[in-house]
Amino acid sequence: MAAPSSLASSNMSRLAVSRSRAAAFAPGTPAPQQLRLGCSRRRAQRIVAMAGSGKFFVGGNWKCNGTKDSVSKLVSELNAATLESDVVTFVAPSTTGSLQTRRWLDHSLPDVVVAPPFIYIDQVKNSLTDRIELSAQNVWVGKGGAYTGEISAEQLVDIGCKWVILGHSERRNIIGEDDDFIGKKAAYALSQNVKVIACIGELLEEREAGKTFDVCFRQMKAYADNITNWTDVVIAYEPVWAIGTGKVASPEQAQEVHAAIRDWLKTNVSPDVASSIRIIYGGSVNAGNCADLAKKEDIDGFLVGGASLKGPDFATIVNSVTSKKVAA
Ligand code: PEP
Repeated sequence: MAAPSSLASSNMSRLAVSRSRAAAFAPGTPAPQQLRLGCSRRRAQRIVAMAGSGKFFVGGNWKCNGTKDSVSKLVSELNAATLESDVVTFVAPSTTGSLQTRRWLDHSLPDVVVAPPFIYIDQVKNSLTDRIELSAQNVWVGKGGAYTGEISAEQLVDIGCKWVILGHSERRNIIGEDDDFIGKKAAYALSQNVKVIACIGELLEEREAGKTFDVCFRQMKAYADNITNWTDVVIAYEPVWAIGTGKVASPEQAQEVHAAIRDWLKTNVSPDVASSIRIIYGGSVNAGNCADLAKKEDIDGFLVGGASLKGPDFATIVNSVTSKKVAA
């Protein structure tokens, strides 16, 4: 199934666009329908690189799936997988035109995280290779206490769970969590040294109404209103129409929004945060489409649902970091 096409023109009216840049963006192919943002931080067109200065990041969101047995099988597959550990160094032109080595890919291990259902976190923690860290899929907004059914950040720390996924569309749109509540959850988790995978993304009708950037920026603002230190935050752009549907965003569609988010951070948070933060893509990523997505410079990794339930496929997605190399 094809993904929805371009962002609507109302978004474009406030963007400086460059048809020549769009054409150069995908050599040998027609210019993408959606035009690129005008942006002063552009890099060389012929280099496929990584804009964020951190490591490639791949998270597996197991959602509400699994049994003790299936979790045990998945852990065995992950333990047996060869995860990329020695990514090639590559070179990129400096602003003066000379070649310089990009720092981030030098023998850099991608960050790999899996998020089992709460009830299996301890089982996974006790059986999974240390190479892969653990994430929760949710956390309470503050200190624990009389909050039936909730899990606190302090409890995540207690069992060695270092990450939490927040703002996932299934919690926004099915459970009803709003922007401010999610922003407060992020702030509290970070205050307890739990790192945050902060999800954002538009519904299909919002994309079709030309509101993709409005929605993403509104969700980003709620995080920014609450977060003071972004060091332990990874942004996950997950268009809701792509989650669990098989309709993956095209690399150009994903790159366009990732670049817009990075520009938003530059303007509204700081240039340092914008240039260093990881912005990962989620929505029907699989072993077959990950490499093309990973080549885009502002795509710093993935958040994976369905395909993370198959160990070999998840390993292939982790290893797609190798497709970030000098374009031929
Ligand atoms: C997700 O739920 O975060 C997700 C990206 O799911 P899927 O990969 O199945 O689309």
